[in-house]
Amino acid sequence: EARDLGPGNLRMFHPSLQQSLSERIGLENELKEALVNGEFFLHYQPQVCAVTERVLGMEALVRWQHPELGLVMPDKFIPLAESTGAIAAIGSWVLETACKQLQDWRALGFGDVRMAVNLSAQQLLLSDLGESVQAALKRAGLMGADLELEITESVLMQDPQRSIEKLEELRSLGVRLSIDDFGTGYSSLGYLKMLPVHSFKLDRSFVRDIGTSEKDLEICATAVGLARNLGLEIVAEGVEDSEQAAQLRQLGCNFLQGYYFARPLAAYAATNYLMEERESAAA
Ligand code: C2E
Ligand code: MG
Ligand code: MG
Ligand code: MG
Repeated sequence: EARDLGPGNLRMFHPSLQQSLSERIGLENELKEALVNGEFFLHYQPQVCAVTERVLGMEALVRWQHPELGLVMPDKFIPLAESTGAIAAIGSWVLETACKQLQDWRALGFGDVRMAVNLSAQQLLLSDLGESVQAALKRAGLMGADLELEITESVLMQDPQRSIEKLEELRSLGVRLSIDDFGTGYSSLGYLKMLPVHSFKLDRSFVRDIGTSEKDLEICATAVGLARNLGLEIVAEGVEDSEQAAQLRQLGCNFLQGYYFARPLAAYAATNYLMEERESAAA
């Protein structure tokens, strides 16, 4: 442990850690400005029906176009935004922007696609989350069922009882709820059973080697079985080739998402994707 060496030795023994710490402090300040400066934007990744491969939803994924660093991915700044509290403002911006995008797609005649938005731990526990979700839906002329909120298992485990209450509040708005990165947390089966959610998103670490690893195939089959037995739907994430898609379909996954179908797309590219898909379905 670096700490055991005393603070004075940190730089000497851990140059890489030292660097990431100063980078962190710089980014922290810049995060606050980024929203005001309009440096965030969303990509959208299609979620398709496992059987028909028609698009049923889009997941909004946030990116930060940093003036000097270039594109910064969410794994790098969401944890930081969580620890500084900036996540509240960033999260409402994401929600608003995703809802407005769906409103635009509705206006283009895409009546069925849903929008999925990721929620972080801090966001889930914000006292006014229900109200801001309701307000975002209302401003975009959407209904609760048009929106899906994705929450990771580890987020829920930070405060299990409070999380259930929050999920119930969201669910009462008609919003769909799903457990993201399913299988990577430490929830007990007893806790999972109590969660008022509609679906599980099978983590891509299990999907990746489904073709070569008996164990991963078993894990996927077990997760699908568990979802089924709990009356839930299951989405597989990280589907990268047709073999994986075929296997997951055969296991009984309801929805598939991954590079095989589409990468996360800029708004205009996502709109094109929807249009091309509609044309090919009509042809
Ligand atoms: P996630 O919600 O589990 O999103 C899936 C991640 O896997 C995305 O990374 C996506 O680009 C990537 N991905 C999708 N298909 C494939 C595939 O076939 N292969 C591989 N290797 N990767 C694939 P991304 O966009 O970097 O997001 C990472 C995480 O950051 C997300 O994981 C989510 O937890 C978080 N995140 C993203 N946007 C938001 C947001 O608006 N709010 C919050 N709170 N968290 C967000
Ligand atoms: Mg997600
Ligand atoms: Mg995930
Ligand atoms: Mg993830």
